[in-house]
Parts: sequence; C-alpha cells; structure tokens
Amino acid sequence: MEVRVATSFGFCKGVRQAFALAERSFELGSPVYFLGELVHNHDAMETFRARGARIVENPEEIPSGAVVVTRSHGIPKDVWEGLLKKNATIVDTTCPKVKRVQVLARRLEEEGYHLVVFGKASHPEVQALLSVLKKQAQVVAAPEEWQKVFAVDHQGPFAVLAQTTFPSVLLQQFENWVREQGLLGVRIVHTLCDETEKRQRELEQNLEQNPGDVVIVVGGKHSANTRSLFVLAERRGVPVFWVENAAELRLLSLPKRVSFFVTSGTSTPDWVVQEVVAYLQSL
Ligand code: SF4
Repeated sequence: MEVRVATSFGFCKGVRQAFALAERSFELGSPVYFLGELVHNHDAMETFRARGARIVENPEEIPSGAVVVTRSHGIPKDVWEGLLKKNATIVDTTCPKVKRVQVLARRLEEEGYHLVVFGKASHPEVQALLSVLKKQAQVVAAPEEWQKVFAVDHQGPFAVLAQTTFPSVLLQQFENWVREQGLLGVRIVHTLCDETEKRQRELEQNLEQNPGDVVIVVGGKHSANTRSLFVLAERRGVPVFWVENAAELRLLSLPKRVSFFVTSGTSTPDWVVQEVVAYLQSL
C-alpha cells in the first residue's frame, strides 16, 4: 500500500508564530486566558490546556488584569477595546496576513467601494474583519448568495475580498461567473493565503497525477482551510476522509489495496499528521 504525503504539512508560518507567542504568554502571568481557540485544532489546543490555560468564548469570563491570548484569526474591535478597559495584558497572535486584509478592506471602503466578503459569516476572521469597517459588508459563500447580491442589488462599485482560507475553487467559479455575466464595477482583490492555496494546488496536482488515490485530510472540524481541502477533493469526486487525528482514522473502515494521499490543514500539528501516516503505513 502506497502512502503519499503532501510536501507542505503541519503548521503554517502564521500558526507557528501564533504558537510561539502563546508559549511565551505563560511567562507573563497565571492563569493565561485564551479568548477562543488560538487555532481550530483540538490536539494543538490540548497542549495549552495541559499547562493550565483557560479557554473561554465569552470575554465576560475574563477577570481584570488577566493575560489574554487572542486568536490567530483576530478578534473584533469592540472585544479588544473591552479587554483594554479591563487592563488586560493582550498577547496579539493575529496572523499578519489576516491583518493585511483588514487594512485593505478599510482602504477600499474609504475609496468608496461597497464590500462583499467571501467567507463564513460566523467565522472569527470574518467577524474581526467586519468589526473594523464603518459600513455593513455583505458576506457570501455560495453561488446562489453571490448571484443574489450582484444581480438584484447591483449598486457598485463593489470590491470583493475573501476570508484568507476560503476555497480557491469557489472563488475561481465566481470570477468565471463575473466574466460570463459581463459585470462591470466589480473589483476582485486577492486575499487568499498563499500557504493554504499551495496546499490546495498540491492536492489538485496529486489528483491529476494519481487519480486513483484515496485522500485523507487531517485537521480540525472547525478549520476553514482544512474544509477547503476536503471540498476540493469532494468536488473532484474522489474518495476523501476528513479526520482530526489517527485515533479517529482507526475507527473508519478504509478501502483496501488502494494508495493514499495525506494532506492537512495549516493548524494541524506535524506530529498529528505523522501519526496518521504511520497508521496508514501499518495497514
Ligand atoms: S493559514 Fe495563512 S492566514 Fe491563516 S494563519 Fe496560516 S499563514 Fe496566516
């Protein structure tokens, strides 16, 4: 049985940086509060829980003067301001690529564009992005949603931005649609993260070269970029399994006498991918 592994796996640069900052936060005080999960990966977050970190979703649960680690996806402006009022020591782990999109969005808004964000409205990155805007932006994810925004409510000029981890295959579909419709006054700004695009490209290339592979996507179930990998394989009609770790994979009944291609989200620790690969090789 052959097991191929994507060349880019494990943490991306942004997550590695966020982890390093979070590690150092334990030197600033105790207990350390994490406002939501630093990254969407259960195994990765366990390492902080084991060190006594308190992971809370609601900022009200954070006492005055606490050390607070933000998400790598960013936190909404009003939450940030609330923490400052509480004299919190904020460890900002927001990925620079996520911050860049916020700066771009503000600039486009000042230039008079109506913003449309491709992403999931409830995702922390999108929530943080919307919070820095003066006007309300529309959030879309599926063709029926964007068709509604641009066909019915076409009061451009529009600037289109995407959550950094949005599936590139869907954005490509949108670009084709804009071209087919001959829509004018739609400016598409490239904001996808190259780290996640690289992984999607590598998966596509592998599927072209090895069409018989069964794909194993490793990553947290709330991780948007892991979902993008899963969506890509699913849309290609190949057998694909999405697992968080080797323990979950062991519970599945996998096809026999096939070759596997293993890829992972950018918040999946290296050791988790290595355990998955070791299990597949042992079959
Ligand atoms: S996936 Fe990209 S945007 Fe997200 S943390 Fe990693 S480098 Fe930053």
